Amino acid sequence: MTPLSLSPRAQRLRDAGYKLTSARLAVLRAIEDSDGHITSSELLERVAAADPSIGRASVFRTLDLFTRLSLVRPTYIGTSVTPTYVLMPNGHHHHIICTNCDRVIEFEECGLNGLTSELEKRLNVHLTGHLLEFYGLCDDCFRLPRVHDA
Ligand SMILES: [Zn+2]
Ligand SMILES: [Zn+2]
Ligand SMILES: [Zn+2]
Repeated sequence: MTPLSLSPRAQRLRDAGYKLTSARLAVLRAIEDSDGHITSSELLERVAAADPSIGRASVFRTLDLFTRLSLVRPTYIGTSVTPTYVLMPNGHHHHIICTNCDRVIEFEECGLNGLTSELEKRLNVHLTGHLLEFYGLCDDCFRLPRVHDA
């Protein structure tokens, strides 16, 4: 592992004073190689495939650290009992979730900057990101008989 191959997130981690242990790098790489969503069991599989010497406990400790640092947030998508960790590019992640078929629609637009600074001033907090989830019906499900007017 040469410094040149570090991802921007790995560099930020190092710049923030965190040692780039093999567990941290493997977990980060597995998350970055996903499409921005990964369950803890998928993550355990990928990390074990990449480096079998990394144990479950250090994967979960690393996830806790990354969550504290707002690199990822746990969320519950669909009927999964384990959380899906979503990557937080620039502190944002936005979903629309269909409550009937569990389809997840991603969108980039964010109208929350005004609200963010208003909350920081009014509540005296320092915000590092948000995970925004809208719930409703996708158009296919909306057209199904009886889904929305049962
Ligand atoms: Zn649907
Ligand atoms: Zn997403
Ligand atoms: Zn946003």
